[in-house]
Parts: sequence; structure tokens; C-alpha cells
Amino acid sequence: MQTITKIVTNIFIFCLILLSGCSNFINNSKEVKNNMLKNKKFIFTFLSAPGAGKGTLAQQAASKLNFIVLSTGDLFRQHIANNTTIGQELKKYMDKGELVPDDLVISMVKEWLLSVKDTDRQIILDGFPRTDVQAQKLITLIKNNLPEHNFRVVKLEISKGEITNRLVNRRVCPNKSCQAVYNTSMPEIAAGKCLKCSSVLIQRNDDKPEVISQRFDVYYKNEDELIKAYQDSGINIEILSVSQKTPDQIFEEFKAIL
Ligand SMILES: [Zn+2]
Repeated sequence: MQTITKIVTNIFIFCLILLSGCSNFINNSKEVKNNMLKNKKFIFTFLSAPGAGKGTLAQQAASKLNFIVLSTGDLFRQHIANNTTIGQELKKYMDKGELVPDDLVISMVKEWLLSVKDTDRQIILDGFPRTDVQAQKLITLIKNNLPEHNFRVVKLEISKGEITNRLVNRRVCPNKSCQAVYNTSMPEIAAGKCLKCSSVLIQRNDDKPEVISQRFDVYYKNEDELIKAYQDSGINIEILSVSQKTPDQIFEEFKAIL
């Protein structure tokens, strides 16, 4: 009888040791994963048709995850306002209504990236790169000057039909200090007025079907070139399906791939 008690006790102790070993192992691997995430620095860019929710996702990543978002449009305006050398160059093209050359955009982005390269915050490039040449130059720039950073391309995937519907049904408040956005499927706006400031809602010119179709033609041609440039450079394109999802759901899925 004593022997049996001894055996049972030994088995029990053995199980306890095994369990504590397992939980240590699990804790350790969690720690390893957290450390890996902490040490990984990412520079994201999104491939996304107009209206797929790229801007909203970037804003959420900035406010909830403390990401830095670079908007090249804002950077253009800052350089011009501060009258920097780049700003003076930019102004020449913009005053003539010409496209800003890739080299100039790249040198501006390079200066900005170098100024933030020691930060631990993750980075999103919003609206950049726009062309295959910009994409190739960015990849070289990251390789040579920011080797600790991993460049990641995330494609927000949605069908042309779904996004067209979303845009055609969009109504916006024209009041500059309000700018609320609605969808015609919302019964609350049946009267056609803004729920916040009572202004009469309008459809943006950009959201009219004929204009949408033109915007898409330009966008998809550009996207094809960008995808080819990424593939040629061996960059993996990660897919995030945004079909039938709310901005919060899209944000949760984005967090899951970090
Ligand atoms: Zn309003």
C-alpha cells in the first residue's frame, strides 16, 4: 500500500514538474515573440483603390498604435511654407501645374525618413510611392540607409463593383468645419441634411459614376506598374481583404498581421 502511495505521489510530482516546465516554455515563447515585435521596425505602404479605406486605416494606426504617418502632400506643403531648397523647387513645378518629378519627391522622402530612422515607432507612407520609379528608388533607399527597417506592402483588396457602389452612395457635408461623411443607405439622412450641422448634403464631383470610372482607370493602370516593380524587387505583397468590412474590422485585421 505504501509503495502505491509512493508511486502515485511520484507521478503527481512528475506531472507538476512537467506542467511548470510547459508553462515556462509558453511564457518564454510569448516573450520571444513580443521581443521580436519590439525589435522589428516596419515601413508600410498600402495599395488601395480610391475609397477602399486607406486613409482611415492610417489614421487609426496613428491614433491607436502610435504609428507615424507620412503624407507626401503634407510634406510638400511644409517645404513650400518653410521655403526650403526643396520647397522652392517644388513650387516651380506646382505653379506651372506640372507633375513633381520622381527624383524631387524621393529626395524629400529620403530626408524625412532619415530624420525618423532612430524612432521605435512604426511608419506608414501614405500616398507614396505612386509610380514604379518611386517604388524602385524607395526600396534601394531603405536597403542602403535604413537597413533595420522591413518594407511591407499591404494591398487592401475589394472588388471594383463594391467600391463603386460605396463611392456613388457617399454623401458629404459641404460645411468646411464639419465635413461629415454619410451613405445613402442610412435612413437617418433621408431628409438629405447633415445630422451634425443641418447643412444640405452633397455628392462630391469625384463620386459621380463617370468620374469614378476615370479615376479607377488611372488607379489600376498605376497599380499594375507598382505591383510589377515590387515583384521585380522580390517584395511580397500582403493581402488584406476589406470587402464588406467596417473601418474597425479592417483595423483589427491589420493589427493581426503586425
Ligand atoms: Zn455637417
